[in-house]
Amino acid sequence: MEIKITRAETLKQKPDQSSLGFGRYFTDHMFLMDYDPEQGWHDARIVPYGPLTLSPAAAVFHYGAEIFEGMKAYRRPDGQIQLFRPMENFKRLNNSAERITLPEVDPDFVLKALKTLLDIDRDWVPSLPGTSLYIRPFLFGADPFLGLHTLQKAIYCVILSPVGSYYKEGLNPVKIMIETDDVRAVRGGTGYAKCGGNYAASNRAAHRAELKGYSQVLWLDGVERKYIEEVGAMNVMFQIGDTIVTPKLTGSVLPGITRMSCVELLKAHGYKVEERLLSVEELTEAMRQGTLKEAWGTGTAAVVSPIGELAYAGEKYTVAGGKIGKLTQWLYDTLTAIQWGKAEDPYGWTMIV
Ligand SMILES: *Cc1c(COP(=O)(O)O)cnc(C)c1O
Repeated sequence: MEIKITRAETLKQKPDQSSLGFGRYFTDHMFLMDYDPEQGWHDARIVPYGPLTLSPAAAVFHYGAEIFEGMKAYRRPDGQIQLFRPMENFKRLNNSAERITLPEVDPDFVLKALKTLLDIDRDWVPSLPGTSLYIRPFLFGADPFLGLHTLQKAIYCVILSPVGSYYKEGLNPVKIMIETDDVRAVRGGTGYAKCGGNYAASNRAAHRAELKGYSQVLWLDGVERKYIEEVGAMNVMFQIGDTIVTPKLTGSVLPGITRMSCVELLKAHGYKVEERLLSVEELTEAMRQGTLKEAWGTGTAAVVSPIGELAYAGEKYTVAGGKIGKLTQWLYDTLTAIQWGKAEDPYGWTMIV
């Protein structure tokens, strides 16, 4: 499929790289393509960044037919731009699409489309330490019809946003509350799919936690409310004794690419990693005994986020003395060095655009 390119007539002024924040600024262009059953995916195009026009009856507004991805382009020290494991994102996009019956995309084509878009907006990839260009592909049902039946029309779109370092003053440990009321996902539901609906279901608990001074919640499984699943919109890992434990992918946990990369990195460096069920009792017992050494979240936006405090059932537990642990710092440094092209990539994870 050919990609039609319409360039913006005037280019925007780029924001100051030292105060980018997250997801506030968008580049000059975006990618779009449309789907219907007769033509399949068609009308692939790069156009100036701007509003979409949709029927108010479009399925996305009423029944939550939306999935997305999050990845980054990094400016290497030599000035080139690289992606980190992009095919994993497109594979996951298709798994998400399958779950909520949206049409799947051709991973090779959407990678080519992304590279074309990045090439056009290349100057938007920031170079200050800790900055990157966040890439947000999303796909949604666009049928202008309120009836509930299989979706016919869909739109795939990619927008780009220069983002700052997630942490203004280095890696900051966060305070986390273990959520015992709301659940994010259940087995058989959409927990493993990256879909907007999961976030809508998470908002209330996150909001309540914020009011109490916590930055995120730790989710428990939806059936027994016993097993640890994720932290906010990140996967979670614990160093208990000399073993790193992370919840296994049971269907309600999002299969994070940062999670997978951390597991592979840790194993490659000789650490013992267990992907298994981890109950909240086992975790609180480890905190009481002092065998919980470190805890951290993993995700594309923050990469690795140290946990300094956990609250559960009225008790507060300090983790790693409320500071960033040694292993957490090592993981952050090792992974980000590969992502920004500052270190060798022995795993073949990066792809120069
Ligand atoms: C995106 C996401 C993650 C992290 O996935 P990465 O591929 O590492 O960015 C974890 N949990 C949820 C709920 C997510 O949406």
